[in-house]
Amino acid sequence: MNYKILNFKLSNNIKDLINKLASEHSLEPEDYLKLIQDASPEDDLYLAELAVKARYKIYKNFVYVRGLIEISNICKNNCYYCGIRRDNKNCERYRLMPEQILECACEGYRLGFRTFVMQGGEDLFFTDEILCRIIKDIKNKFPDCAVTLSLGERSYESYKILREAGADRYLLRHETADKTHYNKLHPAEMSYDNRIKCLYNLRGLNYQVGCGFMINSPFQTLDNIAQDLKFIENFKPEMCGIGPFIPHHDTEFKDLKIKPGTLELTCRLLSIIRLIHPAILLPATTALGTIHPQGRELGIKAGANVVMPNLSPVSVRRKYELYDNKICTGEESAQCLNCLEARMRSIGYEIVSARGDFKN
Ligand code: SAH
Repeated sequence: MNYKILNFKLSNNIKDLINKLASEHSLEPEDYLKLIQDASPEDDLYLAELAVKARYKIYKNFVYVRGLIEISNICKNNCYYCGIRRDNKNCERYRLMPEQILECACEGYRLGFRTFVMQGGEDLFFTDEILCRIIKDIKNKFPDCAVTLSLGERSYESYKILREAGADRYLLRHETADKTHYNKLHPAEMSYDNRIKCLYNLRGLNYQVGCGFMINSPFQTLDNIAQDLKFIENFKPEMCGIGPFIPHHDTEFKDLKIKPGTLELTCRLLSIIRLIHPAILLPATTALGTIHPQGRELGIKAGANVVMPNLSPVSVRRKYELYDNKICTGEESAQCLNCLEARMRSIGYEIVSARGDFKN
């Protein structure tokens, strides 16, 4: 009897926190921790219900699509968790030439995409000059499209030149808001401070900026995730990419036997982030689709509102292997889009062909 009463009080407490988050868009780090640690399945349903309501007011039941072009898997960095890190000798390297990238964009435009995301390793071939040419070519050909870059850490000057060439948005996951944790995931030549400085530089240059992190990355604690949420609350990104960490067989972490981040925690975090920033653009990621057959649908139902089908040439898709068993590496772009459209329709959502800018 006593036990039941105690239980009731606990879950009531969580519900209070959820209500507080929905109305104030902010919690203390210890309350974020409590929420991610103790939410019951019913609490998750309540979180998702409020997240979906908050999102509906701004974006209705629309899901925005971004055409992902994986321009190169050549990388000068050696992030310990990543399948395309520099020291992975088993990774078969490729680089798309500017004409190929443009072809992907043309195909994407025909299919209805109005945002192109160029993502890749930190490949020195892609100088400012070459990237500016590509960005200008895309923007001249398709003035109604947005260009998003996800090319890692560059100098302020470089971000400035790319912005002036027409890039609209930049995705750079902060990976973790805890410096000690950051140093466990990256070699000494990379620094947390520089990662964060890059994010603020991008912000200063008026990009729409996206940060983000992996769930259950090696050595991550729930406390770290609470810090990530506080960081996201304070930084106020226009976009946020979160997805489960999935081990890659050719990385430092292959022997740790770390389990991928769970569907449950990822969805809980999507709902929380939606309530922190109701207008945020939040993808249901490919990694989430990889750990569960309905991962992306469930992500959208938890509060996400973006999907990023692959526009890369099928011949290179398998090579952009950040983690094991990545989905969508075999199909043509059109098939990828059709599949996602059907999946979204099946849960009552509609993929729209629009730039899908951040609504303030
Ligand atoms: N070079 C760019 C793009 C990196 S790849 C950059 O530095 O931003 C995009 C994202 O994939 C990374 O930010 C990381 O969070 C994620 N990623 C890398 N390895 C992963 C893994 N093993 N499991 C899940 N996500 C991973």
